Amino acid sequence: MKDCIVIGGGLIGMLTARELHAAGLSVTILEKNATCQGSSWAGGGILSPLYPWRYPEAVSVLARWSQDHYLALAEILEEESGIDAQWTRCGLLILGAKDAGDGREWARAHDVRIRDLSPDELLEHEPALGIRDRDGLLFPDIAHVRNPRFCRALKTSLLRRGVQFYEDTAVHAFIVREGRMHGIRTIDGAECTAGCVVVAAGAWSGDLLQGLDPGTDVPVEPVRGQMLLFRAHPGLLQQIVLYDDHYVIPRRDGRVLAGSTLERVGFDDSTTSEARQELLRTAVEIIPSLAGVEIERHWAGLRPGSPTGVPFIGPHPAIEGLYINAGHYRNGVILGPASARLLSDMITGRPGFTEFSPYSLVPFAGAGT
Ligand SMILES: Cc1cc2nc3c(=O)[nH]c(=O)nc-3n(C[C@H](O)[C@H](O)[C@H](O)COP(=O)(O)OP(=O)(O)OC[C@H]3O[C@@H](n4cnc5c(N)ncnc54)[C@H](O)[C@@H]3O)c2cc1C
Repeated sequence: MKDCIVIGGGLIGMLTARELHAAGLSVTILEKNATCQGSSWAGGGILSPLYPWRYPEAVSVLARWSQDHYLALAEILEEESGIDAQWTRCGLLILGAKDAGDGREWARAHDVRIRDLSPDELLEHEPALGIRDRDGLLFPDIAHVRNPRFCRALKTSLLRRGVQFYEDTAVHAFIVREGRMHGIRTIDGAECTAGCVVVAAGAWSGDLLQGLDPGTDVPVEPVRGQMLLFRAHPGLLQQIVLYDDHYVIPRRDGRVLAGSTLERVGFDDSTTSEARQELLRTAVEIIPSLAGVEIERHWAGLRPGSPTGVPFIGPHPAIEGLYINAGHYRNGVILGPASARLLSDMITGRPGFTEFSPYSLVPFAGAGT
C-alpha cells in the first residue's frame, strides 16, 4: 500500500507531492495526460493576484507566504534540475484602476511597497506605453516565472527525489470502505491502494469528486483563459502592465505574453479568433509597437475556478484519508507553494503557518443534497 497518491500532475499536484515527500511520505502522482500540460502550462506566471486588494484575505495570506519563498524555491529547483525557471522581479504596474484607493489601503495594511505614478512618471518607467492619460500604481516587488520551465524543473527534481509518476493514467473512481479511503481505480480498471489520496486535478476536480458523497459538493469549474505570445525584442517592455483586466508580461528573452480571457465554456480548451482579436487589440492599446510584432503562438488553458477564488485545501468532510487541493482559479502559480505546504501540514499533523479553516470544504458540505 502506498503512503499517498496525488491525482493530477499540474503545479498543484507536483508542489503537494514535493511537500509530502519532504515530510517523509512515499508519493505517487497519477496524471491522465502528460505532466503539466493543463492550466499550469498555459498560465502567465505572474507571482501575485492581478488586483491583489480585490481578493479575500485567505488569498492574500497564501500569496504572501509564497512570495516570501518563491525565489528560494526556484533556486533549489534549479540546483536539483539544472533548469532555470527565470524568476524575475520586474514589478507590476496597474493603470487606471478605479478602486486604486482601496489598493493603497490594502498595501498599507499588508505592508506591501507601492508607488503612485503620475502620467509623466509612467513614461519614464515604461517608455513604450500607449496609455498616457491614466495614473499608475506600481507594485515594484512583484515577480514572474516561466511556468513551463518551472514545471519541468519541479518534475525533474521530484523524479530525482524518488516521487513516482504515472502519466496517461486517468483516475476514474475511488475505493472507499466504511467511510475510509483505500485507493483509486483507473479508467483501465487498474487499482492502486493508498490510505491517503489527494485530488489536485485542477478544473476537473469537481467532476472527479461528483457523486462520491451526495452531501458534499466541490464547486470547482473550468474557466477558459486564452493567451498570445509576441516574438518581441528585449527592452520593449520593462514591467508587467495591467490595464482593464488585460496584461502584458515581459519575458527575459524579449518575448511578450498578453492575456487573458475569462470564458465559461465548459471543458472546451480550443482557441478562438474573437479572443485573438481581443487580446491583440488590448495588447496594442497598452504597447502600440506590438502591432508590428509577430504573434508566435496563441493558446488556451482551463483554470480551476472556485466561487470566491479561495482554493479548497484540506480533508474531504465525509471520507477519511481523502484530501483536496484545488480551485486556485487565476492564482495557482502564486498560491501553489503555500497551499501545498498547508495541505502537507494538515496531512502530517503539523501546525500550519496560518489557520486551516478559511480553505475548508465544510461550508459546502450539504450543498449537494
Ligand atoms: C491563461 C491563464 C493565465 C494564468 N495566469 C496566471 C498567473 O499569471 N499567475 C497565477 O498565479 N496563475 C495563473 N493562472 C492560473 C494557474 O495557471 C492555475 O490556477 C494553476 O495552474 C492550477 O494548477 P492545477 O495543478 O490545479 O491545474 P492543472 O495545471 O490544470 O493540472 C491539473 C491536472 O490534473 C490532471 N487530471 C485531471 N483529471 C484527472 C484524472 N481523472 N486523473 C488523472 N489526472 C487528472 C489534468 O490532466 C491536469 O494535468 C493562469 C491560468 C490560465 C489558464
